[in-house]
Amino acid sequence: MFITKAEIYKIYLPLKEPFRISVTSMTNREIVLIKLYDKNGLIGIGESANFDYPFYEPDFNDGTIHLLKTYLIPAILNKKIDTIEELEAVYKLMRGNNFTKTVIESAFWHLKSQQTGKPLRKLWGGTKTKIPAAISIGLGVDLKDTIKRVLRYIDTFAPERAKVKIKPGIDVKLITAIRDRYPDLPLFVDANSAYTLKDISIFKELDEMDLLMIEQPLSYNDIVDHSILQKQIRTPICLDESINSYHTAEQAISIGACKIINIKPQRVGGYWQAKLVSELAAQNNIPVWCGGMIESGWGQLFNCHISTLSNFKYANDICLTKWYFADDILQREIPEKNGIIDVTKTDNLFKIDEAKLSKYTVAKITTS
Ligand SMILES: [Mg+2]
Repeated sequence: MFITKAEIYKIYLPLKEPFRISVTSMTNREIVLIKLYDKNGLIGIGESANFDYPFYEPDFNDGTIHLLKTYLIPAILNKKIDTIEELEAVYKLMRGNNFTKTVIESAFWHLKSQQTGKPLRKLWGGTKTKIPAAISIGLGVDLKDTIKRVLRYIDTFAPERAKVKIKPGIDVKLITAIRDRYPDLPLFVDANSAYTLKDISIFKELDEMDLLMIEQPLSYNDIVDHSILQKQIRTPICLDESINSYHTAEQAISIGACKIINIKPQRVGGYWQAKLVSELAAQNNIPVWCGGMIESGWGQLFNCHISTLSNFKYANDICLTKWYFADDILQREIPEKNGIIDVTKTDNLFKIDEAKLSKYTVAKITTS
């Protein structure tokens, strides 16, 4: 690629229902997109699925915009960059900020796909054509409300599999209630770092409940305590928040901190790094799946394609627009049926609805 101009967009996509956490509440999903204009007339588009506030990952959108505008876009403008290695070399000295690197990288892959006429899945070596997708069911206001909410969801949608969030006070009793009604439903839980090793008795109880995995039970940046916990329970621990680079994945695997990895491509530094982490995990008999960050349809497409790699073996968290958003910027939504996405049918969906992009843009910066 040879980029002559770049545009950065901050957009607010309307959510179906407000997303509440302790520090903020959002009715719109704030997302950063870039368009890279190649000298041959092609445009590569990339998305960063940060949040506006660093409550989940240290990266945040205004930080991403600053880094793009001040450092990364000037570093790639009017230069010939043809390979992923050449691109990664541009930001090699930038520590962290992996979500920001991923915006540039996904635009690079979009350009590459257009230049070669190959879908992303083929550029990345994906071999599967159909991938499973699962929605994760959030917490209610208390235990009773959560049980009601989760059972209502499973009763209504009869999913092939379900992922539920847990936290102290809403864990063993919640899973007991689900198991009473659905003893055989493939079920996994995500604790989002809400526990410590002092809670070992809770994990011993959960260990008897036939769960596919317990995701990120302990601190968001820990691997050592997870390795201690994994040795005391049979249920596989799946690391999510803790896996923020290839190197961390190597370390986590080497000390037995997990038996499954939830790869968030943006957190490990991009889709190429996600591929490398999935291959490293495969060499160690650790299956992976793709995590979601409530991306717009654009980011969902990239996550669909990386999930076609052979070691993505569990249901992926593709945050489909129909599940989360009131509207989107894609011309056509990703089709899903009975929890399965036929990724071959998404090859031609990489088209932005420019009227909607313009409608939801709250800030735009042009650099050339
Ligand atoms: Mg998670």
